[in-house]
Amino acid sequence: MVSNHIYSEIRKIKEYAVDNNIPIMVDDGIDFLTTFIIKNQIENVLEIGTAIGYSAIMMALANPNVKITSIERDEKRYMEAVKNIKLFNLEDRITLIYNDALNIKIEGQFDLIFIDAAKGKNIHFFEKYKTNLAKNGFIITDNMKFHGYVDKDENEIKSKNLRGLVRKIKDYQKFLEENKEYKTMFYNNIGDGIAVTTKND
Ligand code: SAH
Ligand code: MG
Repeated sequence: MVSNHIYSEIRKIKEYAVDNNIPIMVDDGIDFLTTFIIKNQIENVLEIGTAIGYSAIMMALANPNVKITSIERDEKRYMEAVKNIKLFNLEDRITLIYNDALNIKIEGQFDLIFIDAAKGKNIHFFEKYKTNLAKNGFIITDNMKFHGYVDKDENEIKSKNLRGLVRKIKDYQKFLEENKEYKTMFYNNIGDGIAVTTKND
């Protein structure tokens, strides 16, 4: 595919996401993630939360050595991701799994685990998948700010569900901050808030 074609296909995926209310990573979040992959010579990624394959495709395009395994539980999104990954001829580097990430076991070690699924379950994803983290690997979590709601006064958040979700993100932040085995850097001003976690030696 010539690069102009790639850009127009990426634009189409982004438009589909907007039209269908699919929360794909924002541009500076994606820039951070792809730069991170290049800088740290990441080769094996486990992604929790494929949606329609946008972030997986962007990670794969960042470095031709990158292989990605990505999990999605929503059938329609999974099908759309399958289609998009075919479009980019990335089937040999992106493996899609249609399942609930909390119900399956993944074999192998990954030098990057990207958590971008149900925000209220971050602690569960972290605890489950930390055993798949390669030595000196990274766990990156997206949406630590959750569209700015995490910084809002709780009284300003009218929806009870949303308040519960925000509380869980705060609990996860605390869990990361207080974790004795792992160290986390919080990039609050990048994208929707990104956390980068490494295991202590
Ligand atoms: N990483 C994508 C966006 C993911 S949106 C991108 O930036 O392009 C979050 C996705 O996680 C949703 O599609 C949702 O269906 C999925 N998800 C939520 N909880 C999940 C779970 N337990 N297992 C698998 N997928 C999950
Ligand atoms: Mg996200």
